[in-house]
Order: sequence, then structure tokens, then C-alpha cells
Amino acid sequence: MDQAPRSGTSPRVLVVEDESDIAALIAYQLTREGFRVETASNGPDALRAVNREIPDLVVLDRMLPGLSGDDVLKSLKGETATKGIPVLVLTAKREQEDRISGLELGADDYLTKPFSPRELVLRCQAILRRMQELSTETGGRVLKAGPLRMDLGAHQALLDGNELSLTPTEFRLLEALLKRRGRTQSRRQLLEKAWDVESDVSDRIQTRTVDMHVRRLRSKLGDRGDWIETVRGFGYRISVPDEDG
Ligand code: CA
Repeated sequence: MDQAPRSGTSPRVLVVEDESDIAALIAYQLTREGFRVETASNGPDALRAVNREIPDLVVLDRMLPGLSGDDVLKSLKGETATKGIPVLVLTAKREQEDRISGLELGADDYLTKPFSPRELVLRCQAILRRMQELSTETGGRVLKAGPLRMDLGAHQALLDGNELSLTPTEFRLLEALLKRRGRTQSRRQLLEKAWDVESDVSDRIQTRTVDMHVRRLRSKLGDRGDWIETVRGFGYRISVPDEDG
């Protein structure tokens, strides 16, 4: 379909739902639309899965045995490394009045059961589009974040209208960070996206390579270099304020 992932690795979605037939239906539908799907049937498994590899999106059922969906949401939003992950919460009709409290916990969107699989896919795509802030009028070829603008077609990155002189690797690294603005990515994820290599290189080399390029990219961003945050134990994240100054 037209909103399928544009390039690079497909978005990873973690589906957290204890009812296995619903989980399977969601997974089937999302996979068909080009998402990579992992499922977890309870809260602790979901948090373990997130800590193994930060997903691009979490689809979270509110009604889970033991640790509730709200508890999982609270836990995700309470951790520096995971608070940027967008969450689509699935809720039963009678719980709708709890909507507000859930939104306060930081869910990005809600879907009331029963929902059509098509609607679920559309919501997931909409959340990811919002996160990526891809400019629709340019067909998604321009990334904009505050005073930063990347024209992916022209291979040009501008900060306050001034062109940044980036190597191709630094350009792809900035693109990978910006496409998941606000979300933490592991060094391995960044390596796959910016270097186009599989992750069979050793951890030590991964760390050294990515860290070195992040350092250079930071220095080219000048006093905005601190936008690229180190998330200890996880990787990196770019946080660009919408209005700079
Ligand atoms: Ca459930």
C-alpha cells in the first residue's frame, strides 16, 4: 500500500496482548503491511523485549494479567531510554472513561476494541509518520526538526539555513537519528542504518565506530551538538527543540 515503509529497515512493532488470537491477528495484519512484529503476552515479557531492542512502536493492550497495560506504559514513560517510544493503547469500550488518565500516562493514541485491523494499521502508520515528521508536500524527501532541515534527495543538511558539511556517513547517521527523533537507538541499529552493514561486527568495533562518528557529528552541529544525547547502556537519541531559542 502507499504508506509502506519508504526505505531501509522496516519499522519494528512490539504487540503486547495476552489474548493469543487477537495478538496473532494484529501481527498478521501489521506484517502484511511491511512491519516487523514481535509479540509479548504479558507486561514483564514486554519490558524485557523493549530492553533487548527498542521498537519503533508499541501496541499495548490495557487488559493484561499481572502487570497491567497502564503499569507497562508507566514503566516505559518513566525510563530515559524508553520514554520516546510511541505507544498505541488498545482499550475495551467500557474503559473509555479511563481514557484521560491513560493519556496522562503518555499514550500516543487509543483504539477501542473491537477495532478493524485496517484501522489499527492506519493508526500505527499515522503515529510513525508523526514521529518522523516527514514533510508530506515533498513526498517525504525532506526531514525537518526545529532549525534543522535535511533534503534526502539533494543530500543536503541545513542548520538555521546554513549548509552543514557532512560526510556521507555523517549524513546517514544524522538521517537515522532524525527519522526516530526523540527515540533511543542502539549502536547496532545506527550501524545498520548509517553504514548499511549487518551486525556481525564485534561489539567493541561497533561502539568505537559509532561513537567516533557521533563525536564528529556533534562537533559539526556546534553548540547544538548536545542535541545528540548519549543514553547510557542503550545508545543515542536526538532531541531537537521545536523552536530553537
Ligand atoms: Ca487483553
